[in-house]
Amino acid sequence: MTLPDSWDSPQNILVILAHPDDPEFFCGGTLARWARAGHHITYQILTCGDKGFNESTPADMTTDALCAIRHEEQIAAAKVIGVEAVHFMDCPDGYLVPDLKLRSDIVRVIRKFKPDILVTCDPQTLFAMYGVNHPDHRAAGQATMDAVFPAAGSPVFFPELLIEGYLPHMPQEVWCSLTMQPNVIVDVTETWPIKLEALFHHKSQIGDIDKFKERMKSRRTEDSTDENPRYEERFRVVKYR
Ligand SMILES: [Zn+2]
Repeated sequence: MTLPDSWDSPQNILVILAHPDDPEFFCGGTLARWARAGHHITYQILTCGDKGFNESTPADMTTDALCAIRHEEQIAAAKVIGVEAVHFMDCPDGYLVPDLKLRSDIVRVIRKFKPDILVTCDPQTLFAMYGVNHPDHRAAGQATMDAVFPAAGSPVFFPELLIEGYLPHMPQEVWCSLTMQPNVIVDVTETWPIKLEALFHHKSQIGDIDKFKERMKSRRTEDSTDENPRYEERFRVVKYR
């Protein structure tokens, strides 16, 4: 069987998601697999996750300080995955809206990095496995899907970007992670330890490390056994060519 990611040459892969830690949580096993297969991966993170406060956040933490910490955590995690570059748009966390400004900003990013494969998340996921999906995740997915089609590949959308020198570019495939309507399932058992190692760098977010390990262990597939655990990541893949 030909796997859906059996591309015959190294692909340029751009990941556009809302928060530091989203790439690793949503699809870190797949990204690690792609990096090891020789593909080139770049992250574009839309916010810096400056409102990611939780019960283990120090009382004197500020949003500015957390923003800086999360930049560092994301850069370290991406390095473990094998990502070549990490860029931050630094939109305010929690306030992401799929408006025309964000769509235009994402079109600029797509035209700049010219990905063959674009990874984002499914904007239709309201009820996720763990509860209600974060509004930023939905907004990031919506703005990115709308930026790809019909804007990124067309010269008549956002003509000011042409003046800036960003020529139309259309990715060949979009892979939507965090989906409840998958059409591609990737077995990531082999790279699951790499995903976990990357996630450990998001110290400000994961709380108690042992409880976190337990929680991640529960993500294994139903046919797993203690001797043979299996892990999957699911995607809705849209092909544009
Ligand atoms: Zn998130």
